[in-house]
Amino acid sequence: MPLKVDGIRCPQNHACPLVKECPAEAIHQEGFGLPWVDAELCQKCGLCVRSCPMKAFQKVEPGV
Ligand code: SF4
Repeated sequence: MPLKVDGIRCPQNHACPLVKECPAEAIHQEGFGLPWVDAELCQKCGLCVRSCPMKAFQKVEPGV
């Protein structure tokens, strides 16, 4: 299931800790900008969805 990062929930004012925590190194960020997920690297473990305090990492339901 693909992931999106919600630019409203993410304040985009800090280094995203999930960049280092993602076991697949699938999360990238330029500066303090909105992180994004490399769908080819993502193993869909759900860690980022559970860990982001702002709940900015969200699963995208098929067909939405
Ligand atoms: S679901 Fe897991 S593998 Fe995919 S981006 Fe999030 S932490 Fe990384």
